[in-house]
Amino acid sequence: MQYDVVVAGAGPTGLMLACELQLAGARTLVVDRLAEPVDFSKALGVHARTVELLEMRGLATAFLRDAPKLRGGNFASLGVPLQFESFDTLHPYALFVPQVRTEELLTERALELGAQLRRGHALTNLGQDEHGVTVQVEGPDGPYEIDAAYLVGCDGGSSTVRKLLGIDFPGQDPHMFAVIADARFREELPHGEGMGPMRPYGVMRHDLRAWFAAFPLEPGIFRATVAFFDRPYADRHAPVTENDVRAALTEVAGSDFGMHDVHWLSRLTDTSRQATRYRDQRVLLAGDACHIHLPAGGQGLNLGFQDAVNLGWKLGAVLAGTAPEGLLDTYESERRPVAAGVLRNTRAQAVLIDPDPRFEGLRELMIELLHVPETNRHLAGLISALDVRYDIPGEHPLTGRRVPDLLLDTSEGSRRLSSYFHEARGLLLALPPDRGQADAITGWKDRVDLVPVHAVRMPGTAPADFTALLIRPDGYVCWAGTPGGGVDGLTEALHTWFGAPTT
Ligand SMILES: Cc1cc2nc3c(=O)[nH]c(=O)nc-3n(C[C@H](O)[C@H](O)[C@H](O)COP(=O)(O)OP(=O)(O)OC[C@H]3O[C@@H](n4cnc5c(N)ncnc54)[C@H](O)[C@@H]3O)c2cc1C
Repeated sequence: MQYDVVVAGAGPTGLMLACELQLAGARTLVVDRLAEPVDFSKALGVHARTVELLEMRGLATAFLRDAPKLRGGNFASLGVPLQFESFDTLHPYALFVPQVRTEELLTERALELGAQLRRGHALTNLGQDEHGVTVQVEGPDGPYEIDAAYLVGCDGGSSTVRKLLGIDFPGQDPHMFAVIADARFREELPHGEGMGPMRPYGVMRHDLRAWFAAFPLEPGIFRATVAFFDRPYADRHAPVTENDVRAALTEVAGSDFGMHDVHWLSRLTDTSRQATRYRDQRVLLAGDACHIHLPAGGQGLNLGFQDAVNLGWKLGAVLAGTAPEGLLDTYESERRPVAAGVLRNTRAQAVLIDPDPRFEGLRELMIELLHVPETNRHLAGLISALDVRYDIPGEHPLTGRRVPDLLLDTSEGSRRLSSYFHEARGLLLALPPDRGQADAITGWKDRVDLVPVHAVRMPGTAPADFTALLIRPDGYVCWAGTPGGGVDGLTEALHTWFGAPTT
């Protein structure tokens, strides 16, 4: 076979997955039905956990360059910023990076790592047996087939791959029906009432159950959204026109504010669905292909990106023949609950942004709760994905959690832990190193690096209460050694996550 993996879709999920697969040694082909990348950005926000993962792959500098940092997060535009400062992260903010830029940087990286990318090539059908998949593609020169060991559908919310597999996509139908325009306005936009710091301009119409909200995308250009609740579109498939947006603006805000130079028009609803399965034998789903929801709090791109980072090393290990039985199943068992959590919080936000006067009490109560530091922190953890905990056996509080970007005192000087993950390999952090740990990983040296350190430091965190951490390539702790505990459980964890040892 010419390729190990075909990835359908060169959105952020497919591109990041291609990077991860190439790092794991898998020959990857990405096909995207669009001949050119789009020139508008759906997503604008990259959250702390995504920035941490970018840092681990040596990509954060490019993303951070010139990108404004938003110190407070947004929950349901309630006007009380989510605080990220109390988390043990070096990136306590959301980064303002237009999706176009994210895709540009990930494309560059995927190609640099050797992935192939074919634009203007749409996946139209697929077949599979126990040996591999056959992907049918419609390219500029007509239809053709590609054989590969695996296919991953990263082809967005209307995923052809998901539909071809017959995987159900149940959820909630919309109750919010909005139109969006990225445009310039000749008149000054009205300052928003109660729309929160992320939406400084707008008009709230409790009587119409509608609102208009806008924020600047770049100097002079605004993203304007006009939302109506329980008022379905006349024709949801019809392309949005400038006149649709003008009419909606005039109805809700009394003027179209001289809208002109329109760059992007779209519809937006709070439809929320999740695939019942993420895998059918040799075909998997990731990103919007397996979960869609209201983009409240800016989570969808981040969720897909983190699906890709969870799946990449596992699929790479299966292809390399080192993966233990069932490793690939942990992709779905770990990532489906995380997406279900995002669906839950965005559904809650969809109710909170509905200006129906019946929800006023709920909004007021929620505002009060957002002022309670513990509640604020809880929601900030959800939105930023810093609180993700996978179901990994072990008593230590770090087990199953992301490892913070510790500052390590090594014999070569100070180094950040993230700098050891550029190649996406497993890592045993040993503090202080002992013979038992070194011996324990001998059979896994081709997959797991031993990093002996004298001390670890992380501003704002308690001193380390571990003697060693086994960390997966995606930065989650899968075993923690404790003082006096020796290497109990380490060999089992190595088997579970990295397969059988080489002899
Ligand atoms: C208005 C708006 C604002 C948003 N803001 C944020 C935000 O601030 N932060 C955030 O995290 N998320 C945000 N999101 C969500 C985010 O944009 C999506 O979650 C993200 O684009 C999903 O990425 P993806 O790669 O999974 O899918 P997509 O970006 O949809 O990419 C899918 C790709 O697959 C290709 N494709 C489709 N069918 C085929 C086929 N048959 N063959 C080959 N290729 C195919 C498409 O051309 C496309 O390039 C927002 C969304 C909207 C609508």
